[in-house]
Amino acid sequence: MNIHQNILNAYKVLDGETLTRLEALQIAKNVHGADLLDLVSLANKVRSKFAPEFGACSIINAKSGRCSQNCRFCAQSAHYDTGIETYELLPPEKVLANAREVLATGITTYGYVTSGCGYLEPDAEFRQILDTVDLLRRELPEMKICIALGILSRECAKLLAEHGVWRYNMNLQTNPARYAELIADTHSIDDKIRTIRYLQEFGVTNCTGGILGLGENWEDRVALACAVRELDVEGITLNVLLPVPGTPVAGVPPLSPADAAKSFALFRLINPRKMIKFCAGRETTMKDFQALLMLSGPSALMTGGYLTTRGRQVADDLKLIDELAAF
Ligand code: SF4
Repeated sequence: MNIHQNILNAYKVLDGETLTRLEALQIAKNVHGADLLDLVSLANKVRSKFAPEFGACSIINAKSGRCSQNCRFCAQSAHYDTGIETYELLPPEKVLANAREVLATGITTYGYVTSGCGYLEPDAEFRQILDTVDLLRRELPEMKICIALGILSRECAKLLAEHGVWRYNMNLQTNPARYAELIADTHSIDDKIRTIRYLQEFGVTNCTGGILGLGENWEDRVALACAVRELDVEGITLNVLLPVPGTPVAGVPPLSPADAAKSFALFRLINPRKMIKFCAGRETTMKDFQALLMLSGPSALMTGGYLTTRGRQVADDLKLIDELAAF
């Protein structure tokens, strides 16, 4: 056997042991080329043992653009001229009609996402969101409802829990210590972490991840993977940057498929039991490598389009999931 020593050391994850931040960094810095497939193989073994079910979800962008925040990657920030379609919060009936269509494709996890910094008080717009949650739960009881509204007050987090929200998506996006530099300085990472803690207090599960390819380094990627481990969230969302013209990261060199595979594998080795979902960038940035990446650690994918870009046909993605199960 001629497997890289850093990978051999990480086999302990299969026995339930923890990969340290330093060990993860050694893999990040020392494993390259043909050794990467050994790392992918281990990540997939860990996924198969601890998170064997592949899943899928779909989202709706229920309020688009005009956001006051300056997240450097985001097409919806009013700070950048990105030319996307903008609209106010969709009425509950329109969301329900979309959710019905999603359910008809066989997807039973539905993400409701709004642009904006978040909700610090239950104003009229937040009440409309609660009404929408109520309508979805009443009309489509088999659908699991996931919400992403940004930063919340404790009161708003409690209301979402009381209205039966199953999961909340709040991405840390990158190394928390470099959030202001790499992501945004109009809000703080502490506000985000506090929101996750509020939701945990009221029993709402969390999906928390980030974006790869923003110009971050390997320390940043490992720091993000360790930060979500420390938060002990239930799911981890991983996106590969799809650079949007007009945003500050439009010219950042794209993440290579090899670096994406290594990153995904490290997220799995650091978070062996979690649902890890490959979201934006799968079809667009990673193209032909999307199946390899799905075998590098993720256990779920997002299908049917993203916030401001379209995706593949849902049927094609569900077929991919079926076929991945053989590995
Ligand atoms: S990521 Fe959210 S908070 Fe940041 S600019 Fe985009 S919509 Fe606004």
